[in-house]
Amino acid sequence: MPTRREQMISYLEASEYTVKDLAALIKSNMRDTIDDLDHIKHTVGKRLKTRSAECTSCHFVFRKRDRMNTPSRCPKCKSERIVGPWISIKKAS
Ligand SMILES: [Zn+2]
Repeated sequence: MPTRREQMISYLEASEYTVKDLAALIKSNMRDTIDDLDHIKHTVGKRLKTRSAECTSCHFVFRKRDRMNTPSRCPKCKSERIVGPWISIKKAS
């Protein structure tokens, strides 16, 4: 029986997810999922990849941000239509 974190790693190796989608998938809450991801980051190191969040209204990209939850508002156009960031893990070769 894999642990929740092992389960998360296998999901993230297969595809990329936002914290919200991942939390729903493993039936956890945002806070615990972010906490688990912090631990996973220590385990997998640089294999953990983050694709930046983006504003769907003006296409502003949140490049300089390392928090894993979705930003609430775009600093450029003030829209709340933000998607991402998406997290994935590159498979160990
Ligand atoms: Zn925007």
